[in-house]
Amino acid sequence: MRYEQSIISILNGLDQGTRESIGMDTIIIEAGALGKAASYIAKGFSSVMIVVDDNTYRVAGKQLERLLAEQQVDRVNTVFITPNHVGDVVADEQSLMELILAVKQHPPDVLVAVGSGTIHDITRMVGYTLELPFISIPTAPSVDGFNSKGAPIILRGEKKTIVSSGPNAVFADLHILKSAPRELIAAGFGDILGKYTSLFDWTFGRITNEEPYMEQAYIITKQALNRCVGAVELIEQGEEQGIASLMSGLIESGIAMLIFGKSHPASGAEHHVSHYWEMDFIKKGKRQLLHGAKVGVSCTMIAELYHQLSAEDFGLQPDVRESVRNHWQEIKRWINDIPTDKELRALLAKVGGPATIEQLGIAKELAEQALREAHHVRPERYTLLHAYNTAR
Ligand SMILES: [Zn+2]
Repeated sequence: MRYEQSIISILNGLDQGTRESIGMDTIIIEAGALGKAASYIAKGFSSVMIVVDDNTYRVAGKQLERLLAEQQVDRVNTVFITPNHVGDVVADEQSLMELILAVKQHPPDVLVAVGSGTIHDITRMVGYTLELPFISIPTAPSVDGFNSKGAPIILRGEKKTIVSSGPNAVFADLHILKSAPRELIAAGFGDILGKYTSLFDWTFGRITNEEPYMEQAYIITKQALNRCVGAVELIEQGEEQGIASLMSGLIESGIAMLIFGKSHPASGAEHHVSHYWEMDFIKKGKRQLLHGAKVGVSCTMIAELYHQLSAEDFGLQPDVRESVRNHWQEIKRWINDIPTDKELRALLAKVGGPATIEQLGIAKELAEQALREAHHVRPERYTLLHAYNTAR
């Protein structure tokens, strides 16, 4: 079975111009994809810089070095990104500089990101800055940003998403992804579940605030979400097909953002809340929680709030924007399509991820504060959370 079939049909459905703007010529999701990565690299490049951390070197980087040697690529250097003082590998100035110095020392003609979302963000930012192409080799299906153009970078303690470049190719090896730690797989599933509320918020913003919209990007994201939720049993069991569905879903969500050129399809109030928590952790110098784990739990909170607003007929209150009031019955129907917080928690628990703020390790005060203030994270986005917080 070729797992990447759904992605191929998405790419085939795009017009030439859009396909070129994405700039990805190969997406392989299959057992043994690492070997294909080595042949692809050997065909197009002669000097390679592999970007890893200790863990991802062990699970894939070392093997890639060997495969490249077999392909007679002899100029291969590997750079290890050093964890910060609390043990996290983060995409900050120091990590960027670590890679830049390595590139200056052993100039490559391609960068290969082997690892998590963070390793990818460091690599894409440096690749963009130094005008080097990069190839993506995810080591866990943990996040939907592998094939993104935006790099969330921590600069002077503040996280900023900077436009950079997407990968030329993605090689997702199911042998490696299947063996990823349970919590990373659950995090990827959490990032996908967040699409329930991000797609709602996008529709909400489009109708009430004339925010840009693209049907194709909406459908791609929705289908990716439905397929992953449909595969929850297989994901829970760690079956190859379940992991493949999850990885395809994450990449498809990334494609939707790429063709739309903005993050609306994949990021709504649940991501703003997650970002708010993250900033608080950065300020306090605490170890970061997994992005998708945060998004999964914040999605349950947003779903709970939205269903409550629907039940209370929030949109009919006099101090609510007219555009919300005029469309309220329609908006309520869309809220109805979001699973309840209970259903979402059950899905998260099923794949073994945290389902509550307590399990995640977020204090109640911070969770409540985030619900009140997270719309400031992206003030230009008019989510229902934004509408709720600015109506009173
Ligand atoms: Zn996300």
